[in-house]
Amino acid sequence: MAAFSSMFFLVCLFLEFQGILTLSGTFWHITDQHLDPSYDSAASEPEAVCASSGQRPAVDAGQFGAYVCDSPWRLINSSVYAMKQIMPDPDFILWTGDDTPHVPDQELGVDKVLQIVRNLTDTIKHVFPNTKVYSALGNHDHQPKNQFPAASSYIYHQLAQMWSDWLEPSSQLTFKKGGYYTERLVGRTGYRIMVLNTNLYYDQNKLTRGMEDPADQFHWAEEVLTEAARNKERVYIIGHVPPGFFEKKRGKPWFRPEFNQRYVDMVQRHHAVIQGQFFGHHHTDSFRMFYDSDEHPISTMFLCPGVTPWKTTLPGVIDGANNPGIRSVEYDTQTLLVKDLVTYYLNLTRSNLGQGGWEKEYRLTESFGVADASPASMHRVLGRMAGDNGYLQKYYAFNSVNYDLSVCDAACRVDHVCAARAVDFGGYRDCLDDEERGGAAGVVHGTSVSVLVPMAISVVWWSW
Ligand SMILES: [Zn+2]
Ligand SMILES: [Zn+2]
Repeated sequence: MAAFSSMFFLVCLFLEFQGILTLSGTFWHITDQHLDPSYDSAASEPEAVCASSGQRPAVDAGQFGAYVCDSPWRLINSSVYAMKQIMPDPDFILWTGDDTPHVPDQELGVDKVLQIVRNLTDTIKHVFPNTKVYSALGNHDHQPKNQFPAASSYIYHQLAQMWSDWLEPSSQLTFKKGGYYTERLVGRTGYRIMVLNTNLYYDQNKLTRGMEDPADQFHWAEEVLTEAARNKERVYIIGHVPPGFFEKKRGKPWFRPEFNQRYVDMVQRHHAVIQGQFFGHHHTDSFRMFYDSDEHPISTMFLCPGVTPWKTTLPGVIDGANNPGIRSVEYDTQTLLVKDLVTYYLNLTRSNLGQGGWEKEYRLTESFGVADASPASMHRVLGRMAGDNGYLQKYYAFNSVNYDLSVCDAACRVDHVCAARAVDFGGYRDCLDDEERGGAAGVVHGTSVSVLVPMAISVVWWSW
């Protein structure tokens, strides 16, 4: 038996050297559950189904939710059990935050926020008791929402304690200081994960306005990545609020300009060790490309769709709901190259009618005809999205997890292409100029749009 094992090992080693066998691993990426405990599909009035609808009528309400509402418990529970059924033993789980409903702060409070985070934490732990979870803070995982301090706080401490089974002692220290941490990826030498608290860079966060480096996170991250290069490590970066622009609203960034630039600089400087970036917050399915100064693709940020179907109230976005989505990622365990993404979803309308459950939506390599999800391949996907309407339309349906099946017109194409192509503000502006010149854009879903000029776009009354 021992001889057989050694022989098997040697054969594997040989095949691997020959490039015949690459070792694959899988993990889950889930995000934006936004539990709404008030959800009641049997409410007497459609306006009263859920607090998160903000009085919008939930005419389609059913047991798994409604498109104007955040997630009922049943939806979240079903998503976690679907994960268990589809891929029961992932290498790890990425959980990129936003657990509480879109309601005014006064309807929540610190205790309620912590209680909701605990509910979700306990559920994930119950279903995946032996799986390592890397958990990033969402802008809704705080009270008041978005207002994350740049120093040690009660909420950071409470969450560090709540997640103590998932956090190594050194991670607990930095988490308590600023909500971020780094560890060797599932304890393996040569592999690392860096979990960022990008809520510190969110333009809705009043506490970090004017700061150079809130909670010293950039300084720390640069050191982590420099050290990683020295130790020949490969790194995944995860976080909640992404840099760059929202593909469903022209000229809408999330980070303050100086933080956005610093993030882009960081990726450009350290791309050699960064093998993937995984973020949420948009609730949509998209990706962002990073390029070096020679325009070579150097890194990709994958934006995972949310579990909540909640239709955004962001002005200018028409019908911005989505079907609930979760994502499995296949990766090369030797290089951390992202090989493929498989997105699963729940068609809310059908499920509420008892006609279906969680199912595969698409596999990236199959649907987009690329070999893997490397930056070079994703650059190819983007190129074809920009130039081939059929391809663009396919991406557009996936963007809302098969909720919005309308035609992505010329202006819509520019919005999606430029958001994916340029994370930095100047590059985004140039992209809009180029694409506008090249196409007949200028109208977004029937409303006229002005080309982005100022970067200080700040809308304060809506919440995401
Ligand atoms: Zn969210
Ligand atoms: Zn968010």
